[in-house]
Amino acid sequence: MSRAFNFSAGPAMLPEAVMRKAQAEMLNWNDTGMSVMEMSHRSKEYMEMAKHAEQTLREIMGIPDNYKVLFTHGGASLQFSAIPLNLSQPNDVVDYFDTGVWSHKAIKEAQRYVNVNVVCENHHRIPDSSEWSLSSNAKYVHYTPNETISGVEFMKPPKVDVPLVADMSSTILSRPIDVSQFGVIYAGAQKNIGPAGLAIVIVREDLLGEARDNTPVLMNWQVTAENDSMYNTPPTYAWYLAGLVFDWIKEQGGVEAMAKHNQTKASKLYAAIDANPFYSNPVEPSQRSWMNVPFTLKDSSLDSLFLEESKKAGLLNLKGHKVVGGMRASIYNAMPEEGVEALIAFMNDFAQRYG
Ligand SMILES: *Cc1c(COP(=O)(O)O)cnc(C)c1O
Repeated sequence: MSRAFNFSAGPAMLPEAVMRKAQAEMLNWNDTGMSVMEMSHRSKEYMEMAKHAEQTLREIMGIPDNYKVLFTHGGASLQFSAIPLNLSQPNDVVDYFDTGVWSHKAIKEAQRYVNVNVVCENHHRIPDSSEWSLSSNAKYVHYTPNETISGVEFMKPPKVDVPLVADMSSTILSRPIDVSQFGVIYAGAQKNIGPAGLAIVIVREDLLGEARDNTPVLMNWQVTAENDSMYNTPPTYAWYLAGLVFDWIKEQGGVEAMAKHNQTKASKLYAAIDANPFYSNPVEPSQRSWMNVPFTLKDSSLDSLFLEESKKAGLLNLKGHKVVGGMRASIYNAMPEEGVEALIAFMNDFAQRYG
């Protein structure tokens, strides 16, 4: 099979140009005679590359100078524990939005460390602000801007008076954002950044230094920041690939260009779903995710045939998450518009034959 369009929710498709560059540099990076994978993270060459990756991310996201950028282990999920350990004490109250599977997991973990007030709970739509119960004394507010599984998205951040903590795993770099509205932004890499195992944490400096005494040292953001994310050996190759992805985004015209590209793809796909009674998407149109598009077939007994035929057509990993069922097309930055067009053509043809 030639290279296919991979609609996986994560680990997800990476830009082909990035993969080709990594391939060309695999055995001998920058004339060092070795792969990045085989190189000391303390070497001059590696440190320069790592710094460049951070600088490029700062540039494309417009990260202000009073924020630290951390390259950490453990994906987004380790941050579910790190957040309460770095930002609260056991008797504090923290606010969490419960809008889907991922925010719910973040809550479950935080509850082991701190008193969690659930601001609102709905896994199908984001409740209106009139339905939120924010506490008056929260140390921070946590939310998940894009719920990867249900395909529901906050189109703008909630307005709150305390540090806002956002799990941007499945939406980071998909469009411009104003970083200064957030206390902490974090994301697992395997959707819009690079290979799994790496997470990025962007934290406002004044929030550092308050970690609990018993915080594991590798989860302590201040320690990570003081050591330029090299307290121990970082996920070196993932960091390198992330840097190539940041360069690629910059070359494409930055996050503004990504936003245009993503909005075009998403609106084409939703329009195709809405236009064909054979398919449906349950999400309120104003909250539909640009990145993850779940949809169901009118007759679910055709699901396995749909998956079998789409795979043969080079459209991979369209099976929906078991919580939602049906299908899900994840269309992150690296998914070309032709991939979405090929999916739409396949869907229309399938509906014609079986509808
Ligand atoms: C994928 C995802 C996670 C989990 O990321 P890991 O790196 O596997 O821990 C968490 N939150 C959101 C919103 C996700 O999409």
